[in-house]
Amino acid sequence: MAKSKKKSSPPLQFKGIWDYAPAPESTDPVQLRDHYDLFIGGQFVPASSGKSFPSINPATEKTLATVSEANSKDVGRAVRAARKAYEGVWSKTKPAERGKYLFRIARLIQERSRELAILESMDGGKPIRESRDIDLPLVAAHFFHYAGWADKLDYAFPGKTTAPVGVAGQVIPWNFPLLMAAWKLAPALATGNTVVLKPAETTSLSALKLAEIIQDADLPPGVINIVTGAGETGASLVRHPGIDKIAFTGSTEVGKNIRKALAGTNKRFTLELGGKAANVVFEDAPIDQAVEGIINGIFFNQGHVCCAGSRLLLQESIADLLLRKLKDRMETLIVGDPLDKNTDIGAINSKAQLETIRKYLRIGKREGATVHQTSCSLPRKGYWCRPTMFLDVAQSHQVAKEEIFGPVLSVLTFRTVDEAIQMANNVPYGLSGGVWTDKGSKIFRVSNELRAGVVWANTFNKFDPTAPFGGYKESGMGREGGLHGLMPYVKLQSTGRGKG
Ligand code: NAD
Repeated sequence: MAKSKKKSSPPLQFKGIWDYAPAPESTDPVQLRDHYDLFIGGQFVPASSGKSFPSINPATEKTLATVSEANSKDVGRAVRAARKAYEGVWSKTKPAERGKYLFRIARLIQERSRELAILESMDGGKPIRESRDIDLPLVAAHFFHYAGWADKLDYAFPGKTTAPVGVAGQVIPWNFPLLMAAWKLAPALATGNTVVLKPAETTSLSALKLAEIIQDADLPPGVINIVTGAGETGASLVRHPGIDKIAFTGSTEVGKNIRKALAGTNKRFTLELGGKAANVVFEDAPIDQAVEGIINGIFFNQGHVCCAGSRLLLQESIADLLLRKLKDRMETLIVGDPLDKNTDIGAINSKAQLETIRKYLRIGKREGATVHQTSCSLPRKGYWCRPTMFLDVAQSHQVAKEEIFGPVLSVLTFRTVDEAIQMANNVPYGLSGGVWTDKGSKIFRVSNELRAGVVWANTFNKFDPTAPFGGYKESGMGREGGLHGLMPYVKLQSTGRGKG
């Protein structure tokens, strides 16, 4: 395995002398109970089976709390509570009033944002800098954004009236636990639907803290219900006949199963699935800026990002220079305690995910790729992976085609614009992409021809609640965010205005 320490540029030889002093964030703002129950009908209630599972801090391997495991009976209870709230209260609540509740939730999230950011880092392993500066501000922004839409739906869809769809079942992954909850809850509520939400089994705690906020906001009981558990709980929710719409974010494999389960039903669905994005760097790109963009593209959130720039496509003429700079920059990345404010790369979310990443490291080597990892030391406890890069990768390699969902970059080279576009599109996924060049015309051409839901130009991984997000091909269907994100949650009817 190529260790880059001896090849580092001169300042890096002072590593150790110039290390940052620890700057840990205190966990004092987070008060956790030993156990969390399900949140149904506005109350925390035990699971009918009495079963529970631990939520583990992946940086310490310690249990933070246990969480109740919902079975199909509990899911049924939650769906009934959501139906009752939909028919009795929420579908009759004036749009401006719905908006007020959402504004209230957004403000309460802002007030408790430090606590929630720390919890997100403890439960999920992401660096506090990211949960504090990216996740939490975006969570609040999504609630604010959709609060604003609640009484403006007639303007969102001119010439049409909107009606809610009913009860939405929402299943979310572990990589951005609270943010994925916000992406789903805020548009559903703004449009008058009620919800049963199932968080991922490794990161349920921030959703259950959100349940406390929902209580504090006096949201009518049953408008949001939260059932915790693993895949079987999610599958019960998907199958439940009382659900009108499924919103799923997670792996392509599970997304396909959900689509099969929904075939022949009247349930609407949106699927936000995996990705293997190409980050394409042309020879006329601002190189240092591109290096930062590549780092952000693949190492943000340990690479647990559906739209991560996990395939670097480099124009051959600049490959040597850029890779040298990239290796040097990678060497400076600080891996370790997610609660330390200096940390760039936190813990891998779970033991199972670390095993998946390790499996791909073995596959890549077997396929003939060269592995480059940084020389940083790793904590003894917890789940960690060094920033990693596969060189000498061919398009046919598994590590060039499949989502690894970790801090692992696959590097390929190209010669012409046509070749770059062909390579970028040559995967089953189509969620995101990046293009780095000085030429506006090249940006327009490449971004138009990339079959991806989002394409960033001379930047990467930028999110905004006003912008739609979603994929093509095996990255899913439907959009979340912005005006597009309202559409899955409304039935549209023509008013006839503006005709003839
Ligand atoms: P996953 O598919 O294993 O699990 C996602 C959620 O689905 C979890 O809550 C899980 O408990 C639940 N689930 C598992 N099996 C189920 C079943 N049979 N029926 C219903 N629910 C079931 O995915 P993950 O490992 O938690 O998340 C990582 C994946 O999510 C990656 O592939 C990533 O690309 C994708 N993702 C996509 C987006 C997007 O917007 N496109 C955003 C974030 C993550």
